[in-house]
Amino acid sequence: MNYEAVIGLEVHVQLKTKTKTFCGCSTEFGNTPNSQVCAVCLGFPGSLPVLNRLALDYAIKVALALNCKIHEFTKFDRKNYFYPDLPKNYQISQYELPLATQGFIEIKTNIESKRIGIRRVHLEEDAGKLIHQEDLSLVDFNRAGIPLLEIVSEPEINSPQEAYEYLLSLKRKIEYLEVSDCDMEKGSLRCDANVSLRKSGAKDLGTKTELKNMNSFKAVKDALAFEIKRQSELLVKNRPVTQETRLWDEKIQRTFPMRTKEEAQDYRYFPEPDLPPFLITQDKIDQIKKTIPELPEEKKLRFIRDYSLSEYDATILISSKKDASFAEECIKAYPDKDKKPLVNWLIGPLLSEANNRKSGLWNLGVSPRDLIELVGFVQRGEISHLTAKAVLTEMIDMRKSPREIINAKNLIQISDASDLEKIAEEVIRENPKSKEDYQRGKTNALMFLVGQVMKKTKNKANPKLAQEILKRRLDNA
Ligand code: ADP
Ligand code: MG
Ligand code: ZN
Repeated sequence: MNYEAVIGLEVHVQLKTKTKTFCGCSTEFGNTPNSQVCAVCLGFPGSLPVLNRLALDYAIKVALALNCKIHEFTKFDRKNYFYPDLPKNYQISQYELPLATQGFIEIKTNIESKRIGIRRVHLEEDAGKLIHQEDLSLVDFNRAGIPLLEIVSEPEINSPQEAYEYLLSLKRKIEYLEVSDCDMEKGSLRCDANVSLRKSGAKDLGTKTELKNMNSFKAVKDALAFEIKRQSELLVKNRPVTQETRLWDEKIQRTFPMRTKEEAQDYRYFPEPDLPPFLITQDKIDQIKKTIPELPEEKKLRFIRDYSLSEYDATILISSKKDASFAEECIKAYPDKDKKPLVNWLIGPLLSEANNRKSGLWNLGVSPRDLIELVGFVQRGEISHLTAKAVLTEMIDMRKSPREIINAKNLIQISDASDLEKIAEEVIRENPKSKEDYQRGKTNALMFLVGQVMKKTKNKANPKLAQEILKRRLDNA
């Protein structure tokens, strides 16, 4: 029996406002526990919430970038449950009338692009954080009340890889909007994954499980793959899948049950009586629309169109907004019409330097001018690719220009054919055995002779040119 996986993702992103959703407490990460709290976010009786305008604006901005319909009339509801990290015993959220619905994200699959529907986008507040120690648990309420945006997809994702692509695309968009850090490690982006199986071609959805506790996109992918396998093994044996929430254990790479899944009615949602409903005018929406920058997909298409980049190269260059700006600055300043040699440096050596240093392309301290100059040296054959990579490392470490380094170390290679002809002649004369070997078909001997030329020139010969010259001389001898 063939089964098809059906996946829906619920993503929470913390919005990067200075203050919390309903009070003036700071949202800064990493400070002394419980130093950023007040009567409102601690749920003291008699305290009243006031909505942070910027949180709503940011939420609208994201919803627009996700192609959603923004609702003119929106309101907040109380989601009631008891948990030690929730001082009010309810969370202010949106249930009945979410801020936005009916959006979509375009993802790349193997062959084509695919649209994944976004069911709803709503604004809510974060809970506090429990810190479990050996025999006690502590609670930090600094996080309680930080604005969270919940983005719920339709169950239209059909593989762990598609889920991965969806998350990547979502994260990139939000990063470009600069409204969240989207850092899974710091918890500013979290993802719950719902997954069920159904017989291929079936219409109805199967029973799903909800997976939690994944702290990277890779973990989401792995957890889904595990869960799909687990469910299919049950179904094959004609055993039912239990609707439940399961936790991913990164160490042992498997999910295990946490609790049976509660239903909406368990939360006894009702309208938040302390907040009025909100009217979002078309004017407001238009105003926010104007603040949306060029988004990653648009940038990618423009890079492909304007600079004749390949889709692959463009995809790498747009993956972070700052890197994309840096790359574009370089590409624009690069004098040749064919940008490929420069792009190869950007996504090759420069990117690996950036990765090694856990930094971006833009903040390595290499200016577009210096990078272009370095590429120029290689393009003119004045230094080898290998030498240039070493020069690049030094440029970053010593904050020097390529010219300074190349001049100081006398790195310009001998590309002058007549100089190399002389040296090649000498080398052949001094190594009659290798000459004979080569002429008897031992092609290795040629590389030995190239090595001799390099040695004689203290590695400054252009090895490609040296090889050409040697080969011609030997073949014509
Ligand atoms: P819940 O009330 O359990 O949170 P929702 O209906 O709100 O469930 O859906 C939550 C997420 O689960 C959504 O992303 C939705 O697309 C997805 N989902 C719903 N039903 C299924 C299913 N049978 N299989 C896979 N995903 C599903
Ligand atoms: Mg849900
Ligand atoms: Zn507060």
